[in-house]
Amino acid sequence: MTLDDTIDLLSQIALVDDRVVKVDEAEQRAQVTMWAAVLRDVPLAFAGEAVGRHYAESAWPIMPRDIAARWRDQVRDRLGRSLGTFEPTDHPHIDPDDDKGDAYVAALRAQRRAIAGGTDEPVGLRELLPAVGSRLGGGRAAELVPANETFREVKAQHYPRREQPAGPPERAVHCPVCGASAGRPCRLRGSGRTMTGTHPSRRDVYDAQRTTDPQGGTL
Ligand SMILES: [Zn+2]
Repeated sequence: MTLDDTIDLLSQIALVDDRVVKVDEAEQRAQVTMWAAVLRDVPLAFAGEAVGRHYAESAWPIMPRDIAARWRDQVRDRLGRSLGTFEPTDHPHIDPDDDKGDAYVAALRAQRRAIAGGTDEPVGLRELLPAVGSRLGGGRAAELVPANETFREVKAQHYPRREQPAGPPERAVHCPVCGASAGRPCRLRGSGRTMTGTHPSRRDVYDAQRTTDPQGGTL
């Protein structure tokens, strides 16, 4: 929260409680400086909510330490809920046991800060169980928290995307079973998960095209 945010907050508080904001101008300046120092790490929106909650529970004039205490609780709670990990299936190139890179550590720290600060949602247990997501039919992609931007940049620098393996040759044709278009992998119809292999009928289509196409055939 900046000095301006603090002035904003205090003028909002003045509307609901005329005991808080000092009347004397010099005292007011000192008050703003003091509140801004105490609430430096607290986002304005959070502070506003904390004021609302305070007056819902208490008849005492709010003090900056009341807001700071609510913020500390929230940070503790968010970090407690986070398992302190990235979406493991999205980062196959990083082996935490193997990797000693500062980049990895820096990215982890950045994510932890973002979670604490409310920019990122904590990665919870549910996101670590992809099978549950797909069984529910929603597909897990929609529920996943995106990897944080710093992490993505650091990862791109240090772990350039590997060439994807070409996959089975019959991927060159459209799959009549699951409807995968040419070049795309087959998907299981129940869960929508990508198959390593392909549907047998796709192989048949591929073979048929190769034997009838005079240009493409190598037989
Ligand atoms: Zn298929």
